[in-house]
Amino acid sequence: MAYYVLIIMLVLEHVKPYHPILHHKQRWFVNFLLFFFSTGFIWLGKVFVTAYIAPLWQLNYTLALLIAQFVMLDVYHYAVHRLFHHYKILWATHVVHHSDIEVDVTTEYRHHPFEVVLNFTLFAIFSWAFAIQTELIALYATCAVSLSIWHHSNFLLPRVLDQVLANVIITPRLHHLHHVSQRRLTDSNYGMIFSIWDRLFNTFSDEQMPTQHDYGLNYFNKPDQINILFVLKQPVKYLRQHNKHRNRLSKKIDSV
Ligand SMILES: [Zn+2]
Ligand SMILES: [Zn+2]
Repeated sequence: MAYYVLIIMLVLEHVKPYHPILHHKQRWFVNFLLFFFSTGFIWLGKVFVTAYIAPLWQLNYTLALLIAQFVMLDVYHYAVHRLFHHYKILWATHVVHHSDIEVDVTTEYRHHPFEVVLNFTLFAIFSWAFAIQTELIALYATCAVSLSIWHHSNFLLPRVLDQVLANVIITPRLHHLHHVSQRRLTDSNYGMIFSIWDRLFNTFSDEQMPTQHDYGLNYFNKPDQINILFVLKQPVKYLRQHNKHRNRLSKKIDSV
């Protein structure tokens, strides 16, 4: 477009000049040479940026985006775990995981099917809403499941090493504290990979494992309750017990 305008104007100014041009030969040579240099520099710049800078920027941008999404998935897991402890209806499903009276690698797999399906659905909605790439979900899931198996293992790290790692990630000690029957400890250390979210939102318990402690819950803690039918019914049983307790409490309050 600009070149068409240039040609039209060259013709017009030649046909009907506004003022006389005395040095057009020298000026044209200088002016077109400058244009040639400028265009050359810009072209070289474009080639350099396309070849060397753009791929670097693209790489950094992609890497930054992937790191941000990885961190986001970890915050999401912290938040959802906390919600499952906070809301009775959600806790009723999570109760199965916490009712294990001993903790080892198999505890990682102890979740009620309701909880698994609910968690999966929420996670699918979250990933879709934030357009998280499938490869990243696979990477995060691999890290999270591997760490979670380790967190539940009946093998605690030497104290010093555990203390150093706990500054960054959730260690077996931190997650074992989450399975101790004292409510104060059960409702802490919700993190999946990084321990920063618990520190940031005041749910971090950093103490050593109590010498005298019970794993599990103060209810559903009888060894004869370790059977699949009982465990599958635990959410309903929990809600019934909770409602009975609430009704008894409200009757007491009414009679005062
Ligand atoms: Zn929990
Ligand atoms: Zn656990």
